[in-house]
Amino acid sequence: MKNSLLFLGMLLLFFSCKKASNTGPETLPNAYSDQAIGKSANDLLSASKYTSLQIQIQYMGTYQLDTATISNLSAYLNSLCNKPGGISITQTAISATGDTLDLDKVATLEKQYRTDYTSGSTIAVYIMVTDGYDTSASILGFAFRNTSICLFGKDIFANSGASGEVTRVSLETSVLEHEFGHLMGLVNLGSTMVSNHQDLAHGNHCINPACLMYWSIETHTGLPGLLNNIPKLDSNCLADLAANGGK
Ligand SMILES: [Zn+2]
Ligand SMILES: [Zn+2]
Repeated sequence: MKNSLLFLGMLLLFFSCKKASNTGPETLPNAYSDQAIGKSANDLLSASKYTSLQIQIQYMGTYQLDTATISNLSAYLNSLCNKPGGISITQTAISATGDTLDLDKVATLEKQYRTDYTSGSTIAVYIMVTDGYDTSASILGFAFRNTSICLFGKDIFANSGASGEVTRVSLETSVLEHEFGHLMGLVNLGSTMVSNHQDLAHGNHCINPACLMYWSIETHTGLPGLLNNIPKLDSNCLADLAANGGK
């Protein structure tokens, strides 16, 4: 049990943070959705341009996100984003497969399968759940572009749900909410810091080991607590979001 928790901890160290190039063959048909991570932070948080948020989840194989994960995500976003028109989430299967995928391959699949794009007063976010692993074999998901997230479903399933492991809902929720944090501009990635809390050694992450946006839970003293508790944003991260139009 201790080993599986340690292994999980090592995997979680890497839950995410890649940046996609925004040019090339994977360019999306919708220019708004083809920007860099963090560019839509204010648009996601505030109601100034977009009053509604629409999230399209597409999954491969049997790696459908648990309904409790979707409920958690909905509550998380409703607590942070000013969207008086509401937040809607759909989840459908796609026929694609991807045993091992890297950022470019994921970006290409997104172009092939994504159908919901930002228009009018609705901002759209896309989430792909794959039936495989990242080529690095060390990350469970990443945010890319301004409104896109990839979760490695098979990898998440393989590291959750068994005796002594984190629950699948907790792991799915933790990775997904962390990636959404990046889309909302954390840390110093489109949402200006109210006070300095960026872990410069680890890119756009928070210095607080207890925060959802910490780069690593290697030193998370509450690792076994992850079995039942999903990490939350700390006060510094919450302040950044509120200052950029969020709740
Ligand atoms: Zn990250
Ligand atoms: Zn934080």
